[in-house]
Amino acid sequence: MDMPLSLEESDPWFPETVSREPGCGNLWRCVGCGTCTAVCPVSAVHPEFSPGLVLRQVLLGLRGEVLGSPLIWQCARCARCSHFCPQEVRFLDIIQALRRLAVEEGYVPPEVAQALLEAESLLAALRRRTLERLTAPGAGDMSPRQALARALKEMETGHEGE
Ligand code: SF4
Ligand code: SF4
Repeated sequence: MDMPLSLEESDPWFPETVSREPGCGNLWRCVGCGTCTAVCPVSAVHPEFSPGLVLRQVLLGLRGEVLGSPLIWQCARCARCSHFCPQEVRFLDIIQALRRLAVEEGYVPPEVAQALLEAESLLAALRRRTLERLTAPGAGDMSPRQALARALKEMETGHEGE
């Protein structure tokens, strides 16, 4: 990643704060191997989002840079990073903690955080329905775009498609 790391406003207590959040105790075990970023589907399409870089920033105490960044809201919560981490760092729990702290510390208004979470749930439902359409008996050679359009229509109308 090309994002610069600035230590000017480093808060040495920030990693400690994050590591005390539920599921985040293994934060200190991160060795910076980059596996989490390599398996992240969001990083694959948006390289500016990197769980490995977020972790590095947390460990460097870059509180404002991390909590004020829109990037922490891009995680799709698929848990692949946590599953593949050789050090058992639970990035999914860490990103949840970062989001909570961002709201608590006033980096993000609660209503914006709520709207983002609702949008995330809708996207997850859309992804699930699209997959169901693609794998349904008789789906034949339906393209992902067609399956997506059908799933979207179903969600808008509240009815199952054909
Ligand atoms: S996979 Fe684990 S150890 Fe490697 S960078 Fe990610 S969190 Fe750190
Ligand atoms: S949980 Fe988030 S950061 Fe981890 S692999 Fe999935 S999208 Fe990427």
